[in-house]
Amino acid sequence: MADRVRCACPRCTIRGLMGPAIIITIGFLLLLDQMRGGFFDFGNTWPMILVVIGVISLGSALAPMSGHIVDTPVSRPVPPSPGAPGVPPAWQPPQNRPGQ
Ligand SMILES: [Zn+2]
Repeated sequence: MADRVRCACPRCTIRGLMGPAIIITIGFLLLLDQMRGGFFDFGNTWPMILVVIGVISLGSALAPMSGHIVDTPVSRPVPPSPGAPGVPPAWQPPQNRPGQ
């Protein structure tokens, strides 16, 4: 994952918040589960995880894709074009010269 280019467009930024938001929500619900009273039992509050997933998915779907970068692995760089500085020219068939 570290060798991939991260896109900073609004849609990808919001989508990247999905994992942390789910972890924070589960932690918060488990914290409420430890409170006295039993009303905030995890068995009653777990649908909040689905609400968080839905809200982030909706926000990601509605966000613009301006400046979106297609995910491309960096480990496979684009080869330089022949004739560029420092690159030997491409092989060319021998020319028919007069006198040979
Ligand atoms: Zn993007």
